Amino acid sequence: MRLVLVGPPGAGKGTQAQFLSSHYSIPHISTGDIFRANLKEGTPLGLEAKSFMDSGNLVPDSVTNEMVRDRLTKDDLANGFLLDGFPRNVLQAEVLRAILGEKKTPLDAVLELAVDNAEIILRLSGRRVCRNCGKVWHLEYDKPSSAGTCDACEGELYQREDDKEEVIKHRLDVYQEQTAPIVAFYRGEGLLITITASGSVADITERAISALSRVH
Ligand code: AMP
Repeated sequence: MRLVLVGPPGAGKGTQAQFLSSHYSIPHISTGDIFRANLKEGTPLGLEAKSFMDSGNLVPDSVTNEMVRDRLTKDDLANGFLLDGFPRNVLQAEVLRAILGEKKTPLDAVLELAVDNAEIILRLSGRRVCRNCGKVWHLEYDKPSSAGTCDACEGELYQREDDKEEVIKHRLDVYQEQTAPIVAFYRGEGLLITITASGSVADITERAISALSRVH
């Protein structure tokens, strides 16, 4: 299964990606996670990405495309992969098509998670992440027992710079302007499957697997 997940920030791509990658036994490739890991390690790539990420803008295509090309040459992709957060504009979608075309491993499907803006703002502004283990909590929907501390490892919880309300609004604009056009691109390629991404996490996963079972 070679799959791309598309949807606005806060649609739950990362959460669903974890379940889907384990269901299909395919690696979860999140460009946001790769950038954050580089930032944590202080690599040149991480430092280059930081200002774009903090302000909710896209990291330049030249940097992102090379990083993805590199990741897609690793030898753990025999079963396929699940791309989360890439592509984020039509140029990236074209580059991805070219990379996969060279390898003769085209995409099987693009799963769009659809959710409205008001719900996105609620979801993202309450999100908190453990600085130590990376587990994601929510101040309303998935509360840690004591605010500010991770129940799993007692690490400190923090709010991503780009989850602050002004930045969320900007990220939604960036999504509309730059990323939403890839939905039409993939519809044109006959790859698009759209599901409603509100309700419980388990219900959304079930909807996704059922929609994808018609592809494979
Ligand atoms: P995410 O965790 O997917 O929300 O990504 C966090 C941030 O990483 C984004 O707001 C961008 O600044 C950057 N980023 C992630 N994926 C891409 C991409 N495909 N193209 C450009 N920037 C990206």
